[in-house]
Amino acid sequence: MIEIEGKSVFNGVAIGPIAIFVKVDTQVRREAIEDPEAEIARYHEATETAKDQLQALYEKALKEVGEESAFLFQSHQLMLDDLDYVESVENIIRTQNTNAEYAVAQTGDNMAEIFAMMDDAYMKERAADVKDVTNRVIGVLSGSGSAGMRADVPSILLADDLAPSETVQLDKSLVLSFVTRYGSTNSHTAILARTMNIPALIGVDYPEDCEGKTAIVDGALGKIIIDPDEATLAAYQKKKEEEEKKAALLQELKGKDNVTKDGKKINIYANIGGVKDVASVLENDAGGIGLFRSEFLYLESDDFPSEEEQFQAYRKVAEMMGGKKVIIRTLDIGADKQVDYFELDKEENPALGYRAIRICLTRQEVFKTQLRAIYRASHYGTISVMFPMIISLDEVKKCKNMAELVRRELDSEGIPYGDVELGIMIETPAAVMISDELAKEVDFFSVGTNDLTQYTLAIDRQNPKLDDFYDAHHPAILKMLKMIVDNAHAGGAWAGICGELGADTTLTEEFLRMGFDELSVSPSMVLRVREQVRQTDLSAGG
Ligand code: PEP
Ligand code: MG
Repeated sequence: MIEIEGKSVFNGVAIGPIAIFVKVDTQVRREAIEDPEAEIARYHEATETAKDQLQALYEKALKEVGEESAFLFQSHQLMLDDLDYVESVENIIRTQNTNAEYAVAQTGDNMAEIFAMMDDAYMKERAADVKDVTNRVIGVLSGSGSAGMRADVPSILLADDLAPSETVQLDKSLVLSFVTRYGSTNSHTAILARTMNIPALIGVDYPEDCEGKTAIVDGALGKIIIDPDEATLAAYQKKKEEEEKKAALLQELKGKDNVTKDGKKINIYANIGGVKDVASVLENDAGGIGLFRSEFLYLESDDFPSEEEQFQAYRKVAEMMGGKKVIIRTLDIGADKQVDYFELDKEENPALGYRAIRICLTRQEVFKTQLRAIYRASHYGTISVMFPMIISLDEVKKCKNMAELVRRELDSEGIPYGDVELGIMIETPAAVMISDELAKEVDFFSVGTNDLTQYTLAIDRQNPKLDDFYDAHHPAILKMLKMIVDNAHAGGAWAGICGELGADTTLTEEFLRMGFDELSVSPSMVLRVREQVRQTDLSAGG
Protein backbone atom coordinates (compact mmCIF):
# COMPACT_ATOMS: atom_id res chain seq x y z
CA MET A 1 0.00 0.00 0.00
CA ILE A 2 1.36 3.42 -0.91
CA GLU A 3 -0.09 6.76 -0.01
CA ILE A 4 0.66 9.84 -2.12
CA GLU A 5 -0.25 13.34 -1.08
CA GLY A 6 -1.58 15.87 -3.53
CA LYS A 7 -3.78 18.91 -3.43
CA SER A 8 -7.52 18.48 -3.36
CA VAL A 9 -9.59 20.29 -5.93
CA PHE A 10 -12.83 18.53 -5.10
CA ASN A 11 -14.01 16.42 -2.19
CA GLY A 12 -15.42 12.96 -2.12
CA VAL A 13 -14.21 9.39 -2.06
CA ALA A 14 -13.58 7.26 -5.14
CA ILE A 15 -12.57 3.62 -5.13
CA GLY A 16 -11.66 1.74 -8.30
CA PRO A 17 -8.97 0.57 -10.68
CA ILE A 18 -6.41 3.01 -12.03
CA ALA A 19 -6.43 3.98 -15.71
CA ILE A 20 -3.59 6.12 -17.00
CA PHE A 21 -4.39 8.63 -19.70
CA VAL A 22 -2.29 7.83 -22.74
CA LYS A 23 -0.94 10.65 -24.86
CA VAL A 24 -0.07 9.74 -28.42
CA ASP A 25 3.36 10.27 -29.84
CA THR A 26 2.60 11.64 -33.29
CA GLN A 27 6.27 12.07 -34.23
CA VAL A 28 6.68 10.25 -37.49
CA ARG A 29 9.90 8.87 -38.96
CA ARG A 30 10.43 8.52 -42.68
CA GLU A 31 11.27 4.97 -43.70
CA ALA A 32 11.98 3.46 -47.11
CA ILE A 33 9.72 0.58 -48.13
CA GLU A 34 10.03 -2.20 -50.71
CA ASP A 35 6.45 -2.69 -51.80
CA PRO A 36 4.44 0.54 -52.31
CA GLU A 37 1.21 -1.30 -53.21
CA ALA A 38 1.31 -3.30 -49.96
CA GLU A 39 1.95 -0.04 -48.08
CA ILE A 40 -1.04 1.58 -49.79
CA ALA A 41 -3.20 -1.38 -48.76
CA ARG A 42 -1.96 -0.93 -45.19
CA TYR A 43 -2.95 2.75 -45.38
CA HIS A 44 -6.48 1.87 -46.58
CA GLU A 45 -6.89 -0.68 -43.83
CA ALA A 46 -5.87 1.91 -41.22
CA THR A 47 -8.33 4.38 -42.70
CA GLU A 48 -11.15 1.86 -42.31
CA THR A 49 -10.21 1.29 -38.65
CA ALA A 50 -10.07 5.05 -38.07
CA LYS A 51 -13.52 5.41 -39.62
CA ASP A 52 -14.89 2.69 -37.33
CA GLN A 53 -13.45 4.55 -34.32
CA LEU A 54 -15.03 7.78 -35.52
CA GLN A 55 -18.38 6.09 -36.05
CA ALA A 56 -18.27 4.81 -32.46
CA LEU A 57 -17.35 8.29 -31.21
CA TYR A 58 -20.17 9.77 -33.29
CA GLU A 59 -22.73 7.45 -31.74
CA LYS A 60 -21.44 8.12 -28.23
CA ALA A 61 -21.43 11.89 -28.76
CA LEU A 62 -24.91 11.75 -30.23
CA LYS A 63 -26.21 10.18 -27.02
CA GLU A 64 -24.19 12.34 -24.64
CA VAL A 65 -24.01 15.79 -26.21
CA GLY A 66 -26.39 15.85 -29.17
CA GLU A 67 -26.35 16.04 -32.93
CA GLU A 68 -24.48 19.30 -33.29
CA SER A 69 -21.32 18.21 -31.46
CA ALA A 70 -21.52 14.65 -32.79
CA PHE A 71 -21.43 16.01 -36.33
CA LEU A 72 -17.71 16.72 -35.88
CA PHE A 73 -16.95 13.00 -35.94
CA GLN A 74 -19.02 12.52 -39.08
CA SER A 75 -17.16 15.29 -40.84
CA HIS A 76 -13.88 13.62 -39.81
CA GLN A 77 -15.06 10.41 -41.46
CA LEU A 78 -15.79 12.32 -44.66
CA MET A 79 -12.35 13.89 -44.61
CA LEU A 80 -10.76 10.46 -44.67
CA ASP A 81 -12.61 9.73 -47.91
CA ASP A 82 -11.64 13.02 -49.49
CA LEU A 83 -10.17 12.21 -52.92
CA ASP A 84 -7.43 14.85 -52.75
CA TYR A 85 -6.33 13.48 -49.40
CA VAL A 86 -6.34 9.84 -50.52
CA GLU A 87 -4.59 10.56 -53.82
CA SER A 88 -1.93 12.63 -52.10
CA VAL A 89 -1.11 9.81 -49.64
CA GLU A 90 -1.00 7.19 -52.40
CA ASN A 91 1.13 9.44 -54.57
CA ILE A 92 3.70 10.08 -51.84
CA ILE A 93 3.97 6.35 -51.07
CA ARG A 94 4.39 5.43 -54.76
CA THR A 95 6.72 8.19 -55.89
CA GLN A 96 8.88 8.36 -52.78
CA ASN A 97 8.83 4.68 -51.76
CA THR A 98 8.07 5.75 -48.26
CA ASN A 99 6.07 4.41 -45.33
CA ALA A 100 2.35 5.19 -44.95
CA GLU A 101 2.85 7.05 -41.63
CA TYR A 102 5.14 9.54 -43.36
CA ALA A 103 2.84 9.95 -46.38
CA VAL A 104 -0.18 10.56 -44.15
CA ALA A 105 1.70 13.05 -41.98
CA GLN A 106 2.95 14.96 -45.06
CA THR A 107 -0.51 15.05 -46.58
CA GLY A 108 -2.07 16.19 -43.31
CA ASP A 109 0.49 18.99 -42.91
CA ASN A 110 0.07 20.19 -46.50
CA MET A 111 -3.70 20.21 -46.34
CA ALA A 112 -3.82 21.87 -42.94
CA GLU A 113 -1.58 24.59 -44.29
CA ILE A 114 -3.87 25.15 -47.29
CA PHE A 115 -6.91 25.45 -45.00
CA ALA A 116 -5.06 27.77 -42.61
CA MET A 117 -4.27 30.16 -45.47
CA MET A 118 -7.90 30.52 -46.57
CA ASP A 119 -9.71 33.78 -45.85
CA ASP A 120 -12.98 32.20 -44.87
CA ALA A 121 -13.02 31.76 -41.07
CA TYR A 122 -14.94 28.48 -41.29
CA MET A 123 -12.46 26.96 -43.73
CA LYS A 124 -9.53 28.16 -41.61
CA GLU A 125 -10.92 26.19 -38.71
CA ARG A 126 -10.83 22.99 -40.76
CA ALA A 127 -7.03 22.98 -40.49
CA ALA A 128 -7.33 21.66 -36.94
CA ASP A 129 -9.74 18.95 -38.08
CA VAL A 130 -7.34 17.75 -40.77
CA LYS A 131 -4.55 17.53 -38.18
CA ASP A 132 -6.79 15.70 -35.76
CA VAL A 133 -7.95 13.13 -38.27
CA THR A 134 -4.41 12.70 -39.59
CA ASN A 135 -3.13 11.96 -36.09
CA ARG A 136 -5.84 9.38 -35.69
CA VAL A 137 -4.73 7.50 -38.83
CA ILE A 138 -1.08 7.74 -37.77
CA GLY A 139 -2.09 6.35 -34.37
CA VAL A 140 -3.73 3.35 -36.03
CA LEU A 141 -0.79 2.79 -38.43
CA SER A 142 1.83 2.96 -35.73
CA GLY A 143 -0.21 0.91 -33.31
CA SER A 144 -0.12 3.61 -30.64
CA GLY A 145 -3.89 4.11 -30.96
CA SER A 146 -5.52 7.41 -30.19
CA ALA A 147 -5.11 9.54 -27.10
CA GLY A 148 -7.39 8.54 -24.29
CA MET A 149 -8.19 6.41 -21.36
CA ARG A 150 -7.76 2.67 -21.75
CA ALA A 151 -10.60 1.46 -19.59
CA ASP A 152 -13.89 -0.29 -20.02
CA VAL A 153 -14.97 -0.09 -16.39
CA PRO A 154 -15.30 3.06 -14.27
CA SER A 155 -11.79 4.01 -13.20
CA ILE A 156 -9.65 6.56 -11.41
CA LEU A 157 -8.02 8.55 -14.19
CA LEU A 158 -4.36 9.47 -13.73
CA ALA A 159 -2.75 11.93 -16.13
CA ASP A 160 0.13 14.37 -16.33
CA ASP A 161 -2.41 17.01 -17.16
CA LEU A 162 -5.44 17.10 -19.40
CA ALA A 163 -6.03 19.60 -22.17
CA PRO A 164 -9.61 20.74 -22.65
CA SER A 165 -9.69 18.98 -26.06
CA GLU A 166 -8.71 15.73 -24.32
CA THR A 167 -11.38 15.95 -21.65
CA VAL A 168 -13.98 16.64 -24.34
CA GLN A 169 -13.38 13.17 -25.81
CA LEU A 170 -13.43 11.28 -22.51
CA ASP A 171 -16.28 8.94 -21.73
CA LYS A 172 -17.31 10.70 -18.51
CA SER A 173 -19.29 7.70 -17.30
CA LEU A 174 -15.97 5.85 -16.96
CA VAL A 175 -14.26 8.51 -14.82
CA LEU A 176 -14.56 8.08 -11.04
CA SER A 177 -11.94 10.68 -10.20
CA PHE A 178 -9.30 12.88 -11.82
CA VAL A 179 -5.75 12.76 -10.44
CA THR A 180 -3.12 14.82 -12.22
CA ARG A 181 0.57 15.47 -11.76
CA TYR A 182 0.35 19.10 -12.84
CA GLY A 183 -2.41 21.64 -13.23
CA SER A 184 -3.86 24.06 -10.75
CA THR A 185 -6.96 24.43 -8.65
CA ASN A 186 -8.44 26.45 -11.46
CA SER A 187 -7.45 24.15 -14.30
CA HIS A 188 -10.10 22.93 -16.66
CA THR A 189 -9.87 19.46 -15.14
CA ALA A 190 -10.55 20.87 -11.68
CA ILE A 191 -13.60 22.76 -12.88
CA LEU A 192 -14.82 19.67 -14.73
CA ALA A 193 -14.45 17.55 -11.58
CA ARG A 194 -16.54 20.01 -9.59
CA THR A 195 -19.16 20.03 -12.30
CA MET A 196 -19.22 16.22 -12.43
CA ASN A 197 -19.23 16.04 -8.64
CA ILE A 198 -16.30 13.64 -8.42
CA PRO A 199 -13.17 13.87 -6.25
CA ALA A 200 -10.08 15.30 -7.89
CA LEU A 201 -6.47 15.86 -6.91
CA ILE A 202 -3.62 17.75 -8.51
CA GLY A 203 0.12 17.71 -7.82
CA VAL A 204 0.23 13.93 -7.37
CA ASP A 205 3.51 12.34 -8.39
CA TYR A 206 2.19 8.85 -9.12
CA PRO A 207 4.35 5.89 -10.20
CA GLU A 208 4.14 4.92 -13.89
CA ASP A 209 3.54 1.22 -13.17
CA CYS A 210 0.26 1.50 -11.28
CA GLU A 211 -2.16 0.96 -14.16
CA GLY A 212 -4.95 -1.46 -13.24
CA LYS A 213 -4.15 -1.43 -9.50
CA THR A 214 -6.93 -0.66 -7.04
CA ALA A 215 -6.81 2.80 -5.53
CA ILE A 216 -8.72 5.09 -3.21
CA VAL A 217 -8.93 8.83 -3.79
CA ASP A 218 -9.71 10.85 -0.69
CA GLY A 219 -10.67 14.27 -2.01
CA ALA A 220 -11.12 15.80 1.43
CA LEU A 221 -7.66 14.79 2.68
CA GLY A 222 -6.02 15.30 -0.72
CA LYS A 223 -4.45 11.88 -1.10
CA ILE A 224 -4.50 8.75 -3.21
CA ILE A 225 -3.88 5.33 -1.70
CA ILE A 226 -2.64 2.74 -4.20
CA ASP A 227 -3.02 -0.98 -3.34
CA PRO A 228 -4.84 -0.32 -0.05
CA ASP A 229 -4.77 -3.03 2.62
CA GLU A 230 -8.06 -4.64 3.59
CA ALA A 231 -8.70 -2.54 6.69
CA THR A 232 -8.14 0.73 4.77
CA LEU A 233 -10.36 -0.42 1.93
CA ALA A 234 -13.16 -1.39 4.30
CA ALA A 235 -12.94 1.93 6.16
CA TYR A 236 -13.17 3.88 2.91
CA GLN A 237 -16.03 1.77 1.60
CA LYS A 238 -17.95 2.75 4.74
CA LYS A 239 -17.04 6.42 4.32
CA LYS A 240 -18.22 6.30 0.72
CA GLU A 241 -21.57 4.78 1.68
CA GLU A 242 -22.09 7.55 4.24
CA GLU A 243 -21.35 10.15 1.59
CA GLU A 244 -23.82 8.54 -0.77
CA LYS A 245 -26.50 8.63 1.92
CA LYS A 246 -25.85 12.34 2.50
CA ALA A 247 -26.01 13.00 -1.25
CA ALA A 248 -29.36 11.17 -1.47
CA LEU A 249 -30.72 13.34 1.34
CA LEU A 250 -29.68 16.45 -0.56
CA GLN A 251 -31.78 15.33 -3.52
CA GLU A 252 -34.84 15.95 -1.37
CA LEU A 253 -34.04 19.65 -1.45
CA LYS A 254 -34.76 19.89 -5.16
CA GLY A 255 -37.64 22.22 -5.90
CA LYS A 256 -37.35 23.85 -2.44
CA ASP A 257 -36.67 27.56 -1.88
CA ASN A 258 -33.32 29.00 -0.85
CA VAL A 259 -34.80 30.59 2.24
CA THR A 260 -33.56 30.91 5.79
CA LYS A 261 -35.66 29.84 8.77
CA ASP A 262 -36.58 33.49 9.31
CA GLY A 263 -37.60 34.05 5.70
CA LYS A 264 -34.60 35.65 3.98
CA LYS A 265 -34.17 34.51 0.39
CA ILE A 266 -31.09 34.32 -1.78
CA ASN A 267 -30.54 33.18 -5.37
CA ILE A 268 -28.30 30.17 -5.85
CA TYR A 269 -26.96 29.94 -9.37
CA ALA A 270 -24.34 27.71 -10.95
CA ASN A 271 -21.00 28.21 -12.73
CA ILE A 272 -20.42 26.55 -16.09
CA GLY A 273 -17.70 26.27 -18.72
CA GLY A 274 -19.87 25.32 -21.69
CA VAL A 275 -23.09 23.92 -23.10
CA LYS A 276 -22.44 20.40 -21.83
CA ASP A 277 -22.48 21.57 -18.18
CA VAL A 278 -26.07 22.79 -18.41
CA ALA A 279 -27.45 19.28 -17.80
CA SER A 280 -25.75 19.26 -14.42
CA VAL A 281 -27.07 22.77 -13.64
CA LEU A 282 -30.63 21.60 -14.28
CA GLU A 283 -30.14 18.32 -12.47
CA ASN A 284 -29.01 20.19 -9.37
CA ASP A 285 -31.89 22.62 -9.59
CA ALA A 286 -29.87 25.85 -9.79
CA GLY A 287 -31.94 29.00 -10.21
CA GLY A 288 -29.80 30.23 -13.10
CA ILE A 289 -26.26 30.42 -14.38
CA GLY A 290 -24.24 33.01 -12.47
CA LEU A 291 -21.01 32.54 -14.39
CA PHE A 292 -20.61 31.14 -17.87
CA ARG A 293 -16.83 31.07 -18.36
CA SER A 294 -17.03 31.82 -22.07
CA GLU A 295 -13.27 31.46 -22.55
CA PHE A 296 -13.71 27.68 -22.68
CA LEU A 297 -15.30 28.15 -26.10
CA TYR A 298 -12.01 29.72 -27.13
CA LEU A 299 -9.86 27.18 -25.26
CA GLU A 300 -11.58 24.26 -26.91
CA SER A 301 -11.10 25.69 -30.35
CA ASP A 302 -8.03 25.87 -32.59
CA ASP A 303 -8.91 29.28 -33.91
CA PHE A 304 -11.15 32.21 -32.97
CA PRO A 305 -14.68 30.86 -32.61
CA SER A 306 -16.86 32.67 -35.13
CA GLU A 307 -19.85 34.85 -34.20
CA GLU A 308 -22.15 32.13 -35.49
CA GLU A 309 -20.49 29.38 -33.43
CA GLN A 310 -20.66 31.48 -30.30
CA PHE A 311 -24.24 32.51 -31.01
CA GLN A 312 -25.27 28.84 -31.32
CA ALA A 313 -23.60 27.97 -28.00
CA TYR A 314 -25.08 30.91 -26.07
CA ARG A 315 -28.48 30.41 -27.63
CA LYS A 316 -28.48 26.75 -26.70
CA VAL A 317 -27.62 27.53 -23.07
CA ALA A 318 -30.29 30.24 -22.91
CA GLU A 319 -32.90 27.92 -24.39
CA MET A 320 -31.97 24.98 -22.18
CA MET A 321 -32.29 27.23 -19.12
CA GLY A 322 -35.83 28.08 -20.24
CA GLY A 323 -35.92 31.73 -19.30
CA LYS A 324 -33.80 31.45 -16.14
CA LYS A 325 -30.99 33.96 -15.95
CA VAL A 326 -27.72 33.14 -17.76
CA ILE A 327 -24.80 35.44 -16.98
CA ILE A 328 -22.12 35.23 -19.66
CA ARG A 329 -18.71 36.48 -18.62
CA THR A 330 -16.89 37.91 -21.63
CA LEU A 331 -13.61 36.36 -22.65
CA ASP A 332 -11.17 36.00 -19.74
CA ILE A 333 -7.96 34.65 -21.22
CA GLY A 334 -4.35 35.41 -20.43
CA ALA A 335 -2.58 34.44 -17.19
CA ASP A 336 -3.46 30.78 -16.51
CA LYS A 337 -5.69 30.45 -19.57
CA GLN A 338 -3.47 30.58 -22.64
CA VAL A 339 -4.85 30.23 -26.14
CA ASP A 340 -2.17 29.77 -28.82
CA TYR A 341 -3.91 31.53 -31.67
CA PHE A 342 -4.11 34.79 -29.70
CA GLU A 343 -0.31 34.79 -29.97
CA LEU A 344 0.14 36.50 -26.62
CA ASP A 345 3.69 37.40 -25.64
CA LYS A 346 5.35 35.62 -22.75
CA GLU A 347 5.15 37.88 -19.72
CA GLU A 348 7.13 38.24 -16.50
CA ASN A 349 3.95 38.56 -14.43
CA PRO A 350 1.09 37.07 -16.43
CA ALA A 351 -1.47 37.42 -13.62
CA LEU A 352 -0.74 41.14 -13.61
CA GLY A 353 -0.46 41.24 -17.36
CA TYR A 354 -2.32 41.47 -20.60
CA ARG A 355 -5.48 39.52 -19.82
CA ALA A 356 -9.27 39.50 -19.78
CA ILE A 357 -10.88 42.87 -20.41
CA ARG A 358 -7.48 44.36 -21.27
CA ILE A 359 -7.34 42.09 -24.31
CA CYS A 360 -10.96 42.80 -25.26
CA LEU A 361 -10.52 46.56 -25.07
CA THR A 362 -7.43 46.49 -27.28
CA ARG A 363 -8.60 43.80 -29.72
CA GLN A 364 -11.99 45.24 -30.36
CA GLU A 365 -12.93 42.93 -33.23
CA VAL A 366 -12.69 39.94 -30.89
CA PHE A 367 -14.75 41.78 -28.27
CA LYS A 368 -17.38 42.95 -30.75
CA THR A 369 -17.78 39.47 -32.28
CA GLN A 370 -18.46 38.04 -28.86
CA LEU A 371 -20.89 40.75 -27.83
CA ARG A 372 -22.79 40.43 -31.10
CA ALA A 373 -23.14 36.69 -30.52
CA ILE A 374 -24.33 37.27 -26.94
CA TYR A 375 -26.86 39.94 -27.89
CA ARG A 376 -28.23 37.81 -30.74
CA ALA A 377 -28.64 34.88 -28.35
CA SER A 378 -30.40 37.10 -25.80
CA HIS A 379 -33.50 36.95 -27.97
CA TYR A 380 -33.89 33.29 -26.98
CA GLY A 381 -33.78 33.50 -23.18
CA THR A 382 -32.65 35.72 -20.31
CA ILE A 383 -29.04 36.66 -20.81
CA SER A 384 -26.84 39.05 -18.84
CA VAL A 385 -23.25 40.00 -19.59
CA MET A 386 -20.43 40.69 -17.18
CA PHE A 387 -16.94 42.00 -17.78
CA PRO A 388 -13.93 40.52 -15.92
CA MET A 389 -10.89 42.17 -14.26
CA ILE A 390 -12.27 45.69 -14.19
CA ILE A 391 -10.12 48.32 -12.47
CA SER A 392 -11.62 51.63 -13.57
CA LEU A 393 -14.73 53.58 -14.42
CA ASP A 394 -13.25 54.32 -17.80
CA GLU A 395 -13.06 50.60 -18.66
CA VAL A 396 -16.70 50.13 -17.69
CA LYS A 397 -17.71 53.04 -19.88
CA LYS A 398 -15.75 51.58 -22.82
CA CYS A 399 -17.46 48.20 -22.34
CA LYS A 400 -20.85 49.88 -22.24
CA ASN A 401 -20.01 51.84 -25.39
CA MET A 402 -19.11 48.65 -27.19
CA ALA A 403 -22.41 47.09 -26.06
CA GLU A 404 -24.22 50.19 -27.35
CA LEU A 405 -22.40 49.96 -30.70
CA VAL A 406 -23.40 46.31 -31.02
CA ARG A 407 -27.04 47.10 -30.23
CA ARG A 408 -27.05 49.83 -32.89
CA GLU A 409 -25.50 47.50 -35.45
CA LEU A 410 -28.08 44.81 -34.74
CA ASP A 411 -30.88 47.40 -34.94
CA SER A 412 -29.71 48.52 -38.36
CA GLU A 413 -29.55 44.88 -39.50
CA GLY A 414 -33.03 44.20 -38.12
CA ILE A 415 -31.72 41.46 -35.79
CA PRO A 416 -33.73 41.09 -32.57
CA TYR A 417 -32.20 40.97 -29.08
CA GLY A 418 -33.49 40.94 -25.52
CA ASP A 419 -33.04 43.10 -22.48
CA VAL A 420 -29.46 42.37 -21.40
CA GLU A 421 -28.37 43.33 -17.90
CA LEU A 422 -24.78 44.58 -17.81
CA GLY A 423 -22.57 43.79 -14.84
CA ILE A 424 -18.95 43.62 -13.83
CA MET A 425 -16.82 41.24 -11.88
CA ILE A 426 -15.26 42.69 -8.80
CA GLU A 427 -11.93 40.92 -8.60
CA THR A 428 -9.37 43.64 -8.07
CA PRO A 429 -8.85 45.76 -4.93
CA ALA A 430 -9.15 48.83 -7.20
CA ALA A 431 -12.67 47.84 -8.19
CA VAL A 432 -13.58 47.32 -4.53
CA MET A 433 -12.33 50.75 -3.56
CA ILE A 434 -14.35 52.51 -6.28
CA SER A 435 -17.33 50.17 -6.08
CA ASP A 436 -19.54 53.10 -4.98
CA GLU A 437 -18.93 54.79 -8.35
CA LEU A 438 -18.99 51.59 -10.39
CA ALA A 439 -22.37 50.60 -8.94
CA LYS A 440 -24.01 53.60 -10.54
CA GLU A 441 -22.86 52.43 -13.98
CA VAL A 442 -23.99 48.80 -13.96
CA ASP A 443 -26.91 46.54 -13.12
CA PHE A 444 -24.94 44.12 -10.94
CA PHE A 445 -21.63 43.08 -9.38
CA SER A 446 -20.35 39.54 -9.20
CA VAL A 447 -17.38 39.07 -6.92
CA GLY A 448 -14.59 36.89 -8.31
CA THR A 449 -13.09 35.89 -4.99
CA ASN A 450 -10.45 33.68 -6.61
CA ASP A 451 -8.74 36.64 -8.22
CA LEU A 452 -9.74 39.14 -5.54
CA THR A 453 -7.96 36.98 -2.95
CA GLN A 454 -4.89 36.61 -5.20
CA TYR A 455 -4.60 40.36 -5.76
CA THR A 456 -5.45 41.40 -2.21
CA LEU A 457 -3.19 38.95 -0.40
CA ALA A 458 -0.50 39.14 -3.12
CA ILE A 459 -0.63 35.35 -3.42
CA ASP A 460 -0.30 33.79 -6.87
CA ARG A 461 -3.32 31.48 -7.11
CA GLN A 462 -1.31 29.13 -9.37
CA ASN A 463 1.56 28.61 -6.93
CA PRO A 464 1.02 25.52 -4.74
CA LYS A 465 3.97 26.54 -2.50
CA LEU A 466 1.92 29.42 -1.14
CA ASP A 467 -0.96 27.25 0.07
CA ASP A 468 -0.02 27.73 3.72
CA PHE A 469 -0.19 31.49 3.35
CA TYR A 470 -3.50 31.45 1.52
CA ASP A 471 -6.29 32.38 3.87
CA ALA A 472 -9.60 32.45 2.04
CA HIS A 473 -11.25 33.88 5.17
CA HIS A 474 -8.75 36.70 5.59
CA PRO A 475 -10.48 39.65 7.29
CA ALA A 476 -9.39 41.91 4.42
CA ILE A 477 -11.48 39.84 2.03
CA LEU A 478 -14.49 39.70 4.34
CA LYS A 479 -14.37 43.47 4.89
CA MET A 480 -14.16 44.00 1.15
CA LEU A 481 -17.17 41.76 0.56
CA LYS A 482 -19.25 43.83 2.95
CA MET A 483 -18.09 47.05 1.32
CA ILE A 484 -18.92 45.71 -2.15
CA VAL A 485 -22.46 44.66 -1.27
CA ASP A 486 -23.23 47.92 0.57
CA ASN A 487 -21.91 50.03 -2.30
CA ALA A 488 -23.80 47.93 -4.85
CA HIS A 489 -27.10 48.43 -3.08
CA ALA A 490 -26.50 52.14 -2.46
CA GLY A 491 -25.84 52.58 -6.18
CA GLY A 492 -28.90 50.59 -7.24
CA ALA A 493 -27.12 47.39 -8.30
CA TRP A 494 -27.49 43.84 -6.99
CA ALA A 495 -24.48 41.82 -5.83
CA GLY A 496 -23.41 38.19 -5.98
CA ILE A 497 -20.34 36.04 -5.51
CA CYS A 498 -19.17 33.67 -8.23
CA GLY A 499 -15.68 32.79 -6.98
CA GLU A 500 -15.05 29.54 -5.11
CA LEU A 501 -15.64 31.23 -1.76
CA GLY A 502 -19.34 31.51 -2.61
CA ALA A 503 -19.64 27.74 -2.08
CA ASP A 504 -17.93 27.78 1.32
CA THR A 505 -20.80 26.76 3.57
CA THR A 506 -18.99 27.95 6.69
CA LEU A 507 -19.53 31.48 5.34
CA THR A 508 -23.08 31.14 3.99
CA GLU A 509 -24.60 32.76 7.07
CA GLU A 510 -22.15 35.64 6.86
CA PHE A 511 -22.92 36.21 3.18
CA LEU A 512 -26.62 36.31 4.00
CA ARG A 513 -26.02 38.79 6.82
CA MET A 514 -23.91 40.97 4.54
CA GLY A 515 -26.89 41.12 2.19
CA PHE A 516 -25.66 39.28 -0.90
CA ASP A 517 -28.42 38.66 -3.43
CA GLU A 518 -26.84 35.71 -5.18
CA LEU A 519 -24.23 32.98 -4.80
CA SER A 520 -23.02 31.20 -7.91
CA VAL A 521 -21.31 27.88 -7.22
CA SER A 522 -20.32 24.76 -9.12
CA PRO A 523 -23.46 22.78 -10.02
CA SER A 524 -22.63 20.01 -7.56
CA MET A 525 -22.58 22.52 -4.67
CA VAL A 526 -26.00 24.08 -5.33
CA LEU A 527 -27.97 21.75 -3.07
CA ARG A 528 -25.34 21.80 -0.32
CA VAL A 529 -25.49 25.60 -0.21
CA ARG A 530 -29.32 25.44 -0.29
CA GLU A 531 -29.23 23.08 2.69
CA GLN A 532 -26.99 25.53 4.55
CA VAL A 533 -29.27 28.49 3.78
CA ARG A 534 -32.32 26.56 4.99
CA GLN A 535 -30.58 25.68 8.26
CA THR A 536 -29.69 29.31 8.95
CA ASP A 537 -31.68 31.54 11.28
CA LEU A 538 -30.60 35.16 11.00
CA SER A 539 -32.91 36.24 13.82
CA ALA A 540 -30.88 34.10 16.22
CA GLY A 541 -28.17 36.73 16.73
CA GLY A 542 -24.67 36.49 15.25
C1 PEP B 1 -12.71 34.52 -9.82
O1 PEP B 1 -11.64 35.07 -10.08
O2 PEP B 1 -13.14 34.34 -8.66
C2 PEP B 1 -13.55 33.98 -10.92
C3 PEP B 1 -14.76 33.53 -10.69
O3 PEP B 1 -13.02 33.94 -12.16
P1 PEP B 1 -11.94 32.85 -12.63
O4 PEP B 1 -11.81 31.84 -11.54
O5 PEP B 1 -12.47 32.25 -13.89
O6 PEP B 1 -10.74 33.69 -12.82
MG1 MG C 1 -11.25 35.69 -12.12
